[in-house]
Amino acid sequence: MDEDPIADELPRVRYDVLESHESPGFIVEKRPYIEFSDSRTLTLEERHKLRTLSSVYAAAKIMELDDEVSKEAARIALELYKRWHSLKVTEVIAIVLAAAAEKGVAVTRENVERAYERLTMVSRGRPVTPTGDVFNEIKKKFMRVVMELNMKIDKDGLIVSYVNILANAIGADDASRMPMIVLARSIDKSRPAYSAAAAVEFFNYMMRLDRDSESLWKMLWPPVKRKRFLIDGASVSVGAGDVKAPEPKSRTVTVVCASCGARLFSVKHKPPSPVNYDISQIPFHVPAVCPHCGARLWNGNRLMIRSVKVLYKFRHNGNEVMLIRASALMPKESSVAVREIERLS
Ligand SMILES: [Zn+2]
Repeated sequence: MDEDPIADELPRVRYDVLESHESPGFIVEKRPYIEFSDSRTLTLEERHKLRTLSSVYAAAKIMELDDEVSKEAARIALELYKRWHSLKVTEVIAIVLAAAAEKGVAVTRENVERAYERLTMVSRGRPVTPTGDVFNEIKKKFMRVVMELNMKIDKDGLIVSYVNILANAIGADDASRMPMIVLARSIDKSRPAYSAAAAVEFFNYMMRLDRDSESLWKMLWPPVKRKRFLIDGASVSVGAGDVKAPEPKSRTVTVVCASCGARLFSVKHKPPSPVNYDISQIPFHVPAVCPHCGARLWNGNRLMIRSVKVLYKFRHNGNEVMLIRASALMPKESSVAVREIERLS
């Protein structure tokens, strides 16, 4: 191992305390220069390394990532610095994103944009707003980082992390997130961001929260131009029994009692045009108790959810559309808080 005090010590130097601040063993005079107490000055190589690492920390901080992810990103950056000899802004961002993905932490598109603006401001003296080409380059570099270091992405962690970010955005309470996570896992485990957005969108519609689901899709990294999952049909079993939701039919919303299986509500959506329709125009009507067996379906404003089946239309890049069935059995006592309860009189 080479005796490199910068490589060994730098994770202690935090970007936010980098200006005229003492650190063990050396004094940071002015970023990116470090002057040692014994008046040795940094080599050019060390200065490059320091600049790279402070960029990594800055990017991680802007992306709201914790110390664990920052340290991992610094480790990856040093490893790749050895191989590539310098790191560009897009590579630094890709490295931080790779560290986050490895730890199962989702990053929003907005935070990637802000990190890019900040790093270009440091390196070029002015913030540069990233374009689609920049996004594509970051995506490519991300894949290169992951492949070169043979990294493993925590996709399940990413699903949970994305659901939390998106659930915050629509103002969902903590307890309502479990059903979202369970549904997201059943959609497509290999697509954490899409699956989380599709699941949160479904519950957004059910819970009568923020009706504007397009904004959810705009939060995703990598960016999507338009949403890829369209809710085509849904069936839900509510209450505390063991009856599962029936197979969903296209453009139909169905609710059944989880105790006796009685059909509580079923509506087929007749769209204004066969091309352009939105199933979320159908309101969910669930009575307070099942009229057939008397089972309780609501707990205050919380609708008890036993199982959910959703039919999605998934749009590929080239506009090819395929149907995806998601089926999720919820843990007992799962529920979601509904903002405006619409009950049948
Ligand atoms: Zn019933």
